[in-house]
Amino acid sequence: MSVIAANLQAVHQRVAHAAQVAGRPADSIRLLAVSKTFSATEVEAAFEAGQHAFGENYVQEALDKMAALSPLRAQLEWHMIGPLQSNKTRPIAEHFDWVHSVDRLKIAERLSAQRPQNLPPLQLCLQVNVSGEASKSGVAPDEVLPLARAIATLPRLQLRGLMAIPAPVSALEQQRQPFRALRLLLEQLNRDGLQLDTLSMGMSDDLEAAILEGATLVRIGTAIFGKRT
Ligand SMILES: *Cc1c(COP(=O)(O)O)cnc(C)c1O
Repeated sequence: MSVIAANLQAVHQRVAHAAQVAGRPADSIRLLAVSKTFSATEVEAAFEAGQHAFGENYVQEALDKMAALSPLRAQLEWHMIGPLQSNKTRPIAEHFDWVHSVDRLKIAERLSAQRPQNLPPLQLCLQVNVSGEASKSGVAPDEVLPLARAIATLPRLQLRGLMAIPAPVSALEQQRQPFRALRLLLEQLNRDGLQLDTLSMGMSDDLEAAILEGATLVRIGTAIFGKRT
């Protein structure tokens, strides 16, 4: 078995164990393999080990990997999870299946206008700056509702949920707090009439805390592909 296949198996076990502790079915949590900085060959190794959904942060790097793996395109799902620039939305609209890092209306409007008619709607999450977001991106919690309402009306897009990247902390209880805040926000949006089913939260070092707080999709890089250089 390849190192990547063994790592994937270990991550699936962590997810299953955390789900069990949380009293949730393991299949209510999707695994997104974050392949940024790793090669198309490494993505293919993960694919051969059964992984189909991949997360990328940089547009050009992702396009290069997609081109190298184009024979597998129908079996792969590509998720953009990195910061977005409004002048670089077109290739995202044309080549990705999901975008997790939308944090302003202008970006969503451009993705909506640029999403090709022959493709299914682009699946979106709003990135929220819950307490102490590690990156500076993300909409403030009190601006999420109006932004979500506006985006939900745009054609060619399907708003699926919320994403966050909390600042790293080591204690489980501390890790849970921002994830809980994101879940409460999603519940509030759904009470307000939106129909969101995705909480994109949890990375290699905090996936257990995220699953305890209701993550439906965890974004895992290091624990699958190894340390990035
Ligand atoms: C890099 C990255 C990840 C994966 O982080 P790991 O700690 O390597 O698992 C997840 N989400 C986002 C947005 C990232 O940029």
